[in-house]
Amino acid sequence: MKIDILGAGPAGLFFAALIKRADPNHTVRVFEQNAEGVTFGFGVVLSGRAMSFLAEGDPDIASRIAPSAQNWSDQHIVHRRETIVIDGGMLSGLGRVTLLSILQDFARSAGVELLFSQRINPDAHLDCDLLVAADGANSAFRDAHADAFGTRVTDLQNYYAWYGVEHPYSSHTLTFQPYGDGAFCAHHYRYQPGMSTFVAEADPAAWRAAELYAMDNEERRAFTEKLFADRLGHKPLISNRSFWRRWRLVTNDRWSHGNIVLIGDALRTAHPSIGSGTRLAMEDSIGLWRALREKGSDLAGALTAFEAERKPIRERLNNAAVASINWYEDMAARMKLAPYDFVMDYLLRTGVMTEARLERESPDFMRRYRAWKAS
Ligand SMILES: Cc1cc2nc3c(=O)[nH]c(=O)nc-3n(C[C@H](O)[C@H](O)[C@H](O)COP(=O)(O)OP(=O)(O)OC[C@H]3O[C@@H](n4cnc5c(N)ncnc54)[C@H](O)[C@@H]3O)c2cc1C
Repeated sequence: MKIDILGAGPAGLFFAALIKRADPNHTVRVFEQNAEGVTFGFGVVLSGRAMSFLAEGDPDIASRIAPSAQNWSDQHIVHRRETIVIDGGMLSGLGRVTLLSILQDFARSAGVELLFSQRINPDAHLDCDLLVAADGANSAFRDAHADAFGTRVTDLQNYYAWYGVEHPYSSHTLTFQPYGDGAFCAHHYRYQPGMSTFVAEADPAAWRAAELYAMDNEERRAFTEKLFADRLGHKPLISNRSFWRRWRLVTNDRWSHGNIVLIGDALRTAHPSIGSGTRLAMEDSIGLWRALREKGSDLAGALTAFEAERKPIRERLNNAAVASINWYEDMAARMKLAPYDFVMDYLLRTGVMTEARLERESPDFMRRYRAWKAS
């Protein structure tokens, strides 16, 4: 089979490597608009569960990623300058560039052709049996066939920007900061020794109160750096195409159209507050690869099986994401809560976590929470 893949993000690269390793007779090409080594953002978080999912796709990839990851077992939430520690739960941070470079090596060693600095527009004619659109949240291929896919795109209310900082946080941390009638939040974690991701978020009231709407991007960066100076250890915020924007929630009623199939963020974006966009993108790759392996030359059957298998999983996560989004969009109302109540409210926000589960998974936190309640 001739397979062309648009986008050398985690979804496109992982799928390319899996399908080519499974059958070297396939011709597999990946087209990427950026030059090699150029990408947006800094680090991403993968949960312990995500690492084991990747191993299901190929044990080799998990063992290649593990040595480059920074791991923590605690999460910190800072509210009213008090740090609450939540024990349990394994998280790993990894540079996006590092992850992509591991996946590129993985794909190349399997015999995939990687073509950088090549933007493919929807009117291009690619001579292939299967076209995998893994071209991210703003997928031009998906938008060109939006009616066929049943694409829905919603811009959320809050604004965010993805910065980096040369400050080695000891833990995966969320810092909340009231501002005017609204609130800011920062999500920061180390992804390589001495380097951390710093995602800043503002609700519309904080955006207005801080007059961020009237600033250019550099002024917004300087404002954010000043606001979170303590948390940044007084280090500068580093920009890498770090624009303040609203999160785009993307869904598609149908996942394929003719010989085009959507995977990763092109198919569905997950809100960063449930921290699993990269994992979901790579699980789509595993799902599509498995469906093609099982259905052999029946391409239409494979695309139907891929959607039938993965859709319910994506739906469940989407429900959690919507609950989490609602919490963040209403975070200012929670600022009045005392730190332990605030943290409990945060942890239970999606309905996936319960107090009983916290008793099992975060016993130290629950002990401190109960002692605080009793006092
Ligand atoms: C602020 C922020 C924080 C995040 N934090 C996390 C996190 O902590 N954990 C996590 O798991 N995920 C996180 N994510 C989400 C994660 O980055 C995405 O979910 C993930 O990258 C999706 O992978 P993908 O391969 O589908 O798309 P992308 O990574 O977006 O890759 C798509 C690729 O396609 C290329 N492309 C686009 N159009 C074309 C074209 N026409 N021709 C050729 N190439 C094209 C793009 O240049 C890009 O390289 C975060 C995202 C943001 C914005």
